[in-house]
Amino acid sequence: MAFALSIVKLTEALGKPGCVVCRMENDAATHSLTSLLWESTTDPQSRAMINRAYGFCPKHLRNFVAIELSKSGPTIGTNLIYELLAKNIAADLGSIERTAKVNRKLRDFLAKFNIHLSYPRTNSILKPSEPCPGCETVRITGENTLSTLCEVITREDEKFLSAYEQSDGICLHHLRMGLEMYLVEYPQATDYLIQDTIKRLGENREHMLEFIRKNNWKYKGEELSPEERVAWIKTMTFFSGYDGKRFDHHVDEV
Ligand SMILES: [Zn+2]
Ligand SMILES: [Zn+2]
Repeated sequence: MAFALSIVKLTEALGKPGCVVCRMENDAATHSLTSLLWESTTDPQSRAMINRAYGFCPKHLRNFVAIELSKSGPTIGTNLIYELLAKNIAADLGSIERTAKVNRKLRDFLAKFNIHLSYPRTNSILKPSEPCPGCETVRITGENTLSTLCEVITREDEKFLSAYEQSDGICLHHLRMGLEMYLVEYPQATDYLIQDTIKRLGENREHMLEFIRKNNWKYKGEELSPEERVAWIKTMTFFSGYDGKRFDHHVDEV
């Protein structure tokens, strides 16, 4: 039943623009951030997980705040989580400073005897012991979605394959991930994904070459076909996973 449900969700996602696995991951992350928002005041386990991660990564923090602002107005959950994290980080910094003072004293003492210890760069300062909860959901969903995708492709369900061919397919990141995980386990599906990608890239490349040629002043009289206008956008979707509409004049701040 769970598998059937995954196929339904996957088929639905194929009807939307951008990489289908990216979309499933983002939807799952939004869902898990929404749950965390409601659990953040009541569930000590969720809070502990967020604390061990030192909060969310920048992208998921932004989404978390946006979800709270759009659903409940006052940012109580955000305040609750980040008040404690601010306190934890200040306490951890205090402890780092105390340890550093001891080490410096030891270094100065040993230097008097001409003993010079080397202090290699440490990578343990404020290191989270868990990943961002949103990123963890993304990772698990990505793996599960690729597994479902490979299984359905292996079954050769014509309706599904036709929906896949009509869709934007999967992005480079997820193709790489799918091939790394399932090249041996799902040979038929991974062969299909390779062939499908080669075909898409080849067609887009041809249209892009025409786009380049027709933008040369010598051929200015020749009009671009609809396919030639969008081939570069489709290629950007493959390289990024984004809906092609996101490739506009807007430059992201920070
Ligand atoms: Zn993707
Ligand atoms: Zn994250």
